Amino acid sequence: MGMSDDGPGTAFEHLWTPYRMAYIRGEGKPTGAHDCPFCVIPTMDDEQGLVVARGATVFAVLNLYPYNAGHLMLVPYRHVPDYTDLTPAEVAELGTFTQTAMRTVRAVSGAHGFNIGMNQGSVAGAGIADHLHQHAVPRWGGDTNFMPVIGLTRVLPQVLRETRALLAEAWADQAVPVGEA
Ligand SMILES: [Zn+2]
Repeated sequence: MGMSDDGPGTAFEHLWTPYRMAYIRGEGKPTGAHDCPFCVIPTMDDEQGLVVARGATVFAVLNLYPYNAGHLMLVPYRHVPDYTDLTPAEVAELGTFTQTAMRTVRAVSGAHGFNIGMNQGSVAGAGIADHLHQHAVPRWGGDTNFMPVIGLTRVLPQVLRETRALLAEAWADQAVPVGEA
């Protein structure tokens, strides 16, 4: 398939391009669940939304604005801002998803380390403060990263799409089966 029919889907571009521009300008931050990206993403199919895995209360998604290759976010479906707003079940699944994200990214990419955490509130650097999200950012020593795995000539949308497919395929092997957690 060529670039014309193999690039990001039309719906993807329609949804994300204006959002990305507004994001870069620091405008158009979501004002509620109705225009919140973390509420919209789960309504999209996995490829469109860059969703890697879906749990009962939490989903895993590639960051469209990655700090590093393979930058995942673990996000509760509920539109709540603060860690203290989560139920015990959501806290547990957020933790399990964070562990599985680390195992998966390690298995696929050989990441050497991670930065794990969440920014709480705009003053703390949260880009979308109204819907909490945990970052899992893989780190590599030296100059190795995902690029040897997925090639050097891809543009970012291709990289994200291929990275999502790799991680989604590996996720099931790394997830702890229910009952063994
Ligand atoms: Zn939301």
